[in-house]
Amino acid sequence: MPAYVDDIRVIRGENPFESMMSRFDHAAKLLDLNPDLYRVLRVPNREFTVYIPVFMDNGSIEVFTGYRVQHNFARGPAKGGILYGPDVSLDEIRALAAWMTWKCAVLNIPFGGAKGGIICDPNQMSNLELERLTRRYTAELIDVIGPERDVPAPDMNTNEQTMAWIMDTYSMHARHTVTAVVTGKPVDLSGSRGRREATGRGMLIVVNEAIRKFGLQPAATRVVIQGSGNVGGTAALLMHQAGYRITAISDIHGGIYDERGLDIPEVLDYLATHKTLEKYPNAAPISNHELLELECEVLIPAATENQITSQNASRIKCRILAEGANGPTTAAADDILEQRGVFVIPDILANAGGVTCSYFEWVQDRMGYFWKESLVNERLQDVMEASFQDVVKYAETHKVNNRIAAYMLAIDRVAYVTQLRGIYA
Ligand code: NAD
Repeated sequence: MPAYVDDIRVIRGENPFESMMSRFDHAAKLLDLNPDLYRVLRVPNREFTVYIPVFMDNGSIEVFTGYRVQHNFARGPAKGGILYGPDVSLDEIRALAAWMTWKCAVLNIPFGGAKGGIICDPNQMSNLELERLTRRYTAELIDVIGPERDVPAPDMNTNEQTMAWIMDTYSMHARHTVTAVVTGKPVDLSGSRGRREATGRGMLIVVNEAIRKFGLQPAATRVVIQGSGNVGGTAALLMHQAGYRITAISDIHGGIYDERGLDIPEVLDYLATHKTLEKYPNAAPISNHELLELECEVLIPAATENQITSQNASRIKCRILAEGANGPTTAAADDILEQRGVFVIPDILANAGGVTCSYFEWVQDRMGYFWKESLVNERLQDVMEASFQDVVKYAETHKVNNRIAAYMLAIDRVAYVTQLRGIYA
């Protein structure tokens, strides 16, 4: 990615790190956070940049740039995904690492935050090239990751196979099998049952809680979903099964819409076969921009960052905005949504089902004892419901919106343990 892209995003108010930090600053101010602690929590603990030579299939050697940012360790080992993509930047990884710290704290699970990424175009690479890239990246970071240090997981363009390669590379160096070094592994390789669906299931759980607050029933609740990947697709399926009316869903090329409700299993079958929703025969086509502005009770942006901005926030017509993606709403859009009375379930709460289940996977790996899926789902429900109630109660008590409440709650928890551990020695 050209270096200036970060600058353009800053000018547009879309720099993800600035976007996250503006919420952090606002929440810290409202908390009257001790200035010493403020300075500590405002920055990541450490950042690594690695240059990864990879032997390509055509016989040449390509050098890729990879990052791992470990934002905070106060509450436990750092935790966070690894993403691959041509647009990966250190700023983005830094923002996502901090988000993980706040997310784990909101969920009250014993992890800090981290994130990693490699600048590459996975669609242009063979499986063997991706394997070499992943193994070499792991080897470069071998001293700083581990079950007690930093536990990666899948994110955009990485998957269970990527985690299996990382686990194997780490284990080769440790000279014994270390399953708890990553989460999001295949179930047959010490992964957790229910992990694949956990982020989508978490979305269902928090939306269930939110509609209960508004006295709505699922059958009378129209849901619009941007994105139909792991988060959007799974949330769509589970919500359809729970009786919600999913009126629109999209992928990167555009979406489909039917006010009467889409047949989600059929839509997902079509997507699996055709790899796109384009030309789906049983609903009207709609663009991603139009989709976000549809009238509905629940809007779930589950694709990517910066979808709801100062440009379109005044045209968003949902009652509940449940953020599946990380950072789908810019800080400038927050105020507009608040004025319009939209009930926001912020990303650090709404999409935390995945990391919660990752925590369960790490626990199971360390016990060497694996739970049945119903137990995983039951515990996920307990954690997500309790966190939803914590955030809503905090918002009501402090008279702030849910996003700022989530940040305040998280910063409060991280600051408290930081002080308990002592940073002044
Ligand atoms: P994915 O790659 O499985 O799916 C992404 C979906 O969004 C696809 O349907 C894709 O076509 C669509 N998309 C991508 N770019 C788009 C664009 N510019 N406009 C419209 N649609 C676009 O990814 P995922 O795992 O579902 O993750 C989606 C988001 O959720 C990301 O922000 C990710 O960081 C976040 N998230 C994922 C998890 C998880 O467990 N997978 C957990 C927490 C947060």
